Amino acid sequence: MSVESFSVYGRDGGGPFLLVSDHAGQAIPDTLGDLGVSATERARHIGWDIGIDGVGRGLAEALPAVLIEQVFSRLVIDCNRAPGHPTSIVRESDGTAVPGNQSLCETQSGWREQTILHPYHARIRAELDARAARAQPTCLIALHSFTPVMRGYARPWHAGILHNRDSRLARIMLDLLRDEGLCVGDNEPYALTDTSDYTVPEHAERRGLPYIEIEIRQDLIASTIGQAEWAARLARLLPAAWRIFCERYGDAS
Ligand SMILES: [Zn+2]
Repeated sequence: MSVESFSVYGRDGGGPFLLVSDHAGQAIPDTLGDLGVSATERARHIGWDIGIDGVGRGLAEALPAVLIEQVFSRLVIDCNRAPGHPTSIVRESDGTAVPGNQSLCETQSGWREQTILHPYHARIRAELDARAARAQPTCLIALHSFTPVMRGYARPWHAGILHNRDSRLARIMLDLLRDEGLCVGDNEPYALTDTSDYTVPEHAERRGLPYIEIEIRQDLIASTIGQAEWAARLARLLPAAWRIFCERYGDAS
């Protein structure tokens, strides 16, 4: 494949944050055509996390921090699922069939893992290893966005904070966002688990790093204005959350 499966934005400004976006990309490898899914369908939330590219890149610049983004559509392979997970390569998503994903043989699914999933996670791993080698405190910030309406239900949250084994930083961020007058889901619209997620369990929880998985409602960040607004908000609140975290728990994490 000529295209790397990840893009790196921003730079390490010495702060604690490493940003990752598993679902920021919309590309499909040439060899897979369009997976049999129309451009209109691929542009929906089933194809990517709408708006999170602009938020992540703006945030990486403002902090500053390194952002590692997945380039390919989650319809090719979901980089927030363990390899082989039943929803790693979906045959259907939110009512839309994915003809190019039906009855894949092991060679076909293995190729997607080798060329897309593994290089992306290896890049995250390398960044975390380098930070550990220089004893730089690190928290992983996993960025996502969610569709405002799912199966007829209008989701009330502006954003959601997802957490599992280590809720310390998540609880602080939850309070800070709610102090802004926002409706913020606590493990809503999704709960973070070992099976429904891969990036945070693999890279943060296994290493004992503090983390936040944040979900932003897509209608709020569909425009560049909304993306800039959320990037600025997170650039202000994440360092504030880290200061509180260090006061409470120390920065050795
Ligand atoms: Zn996502």
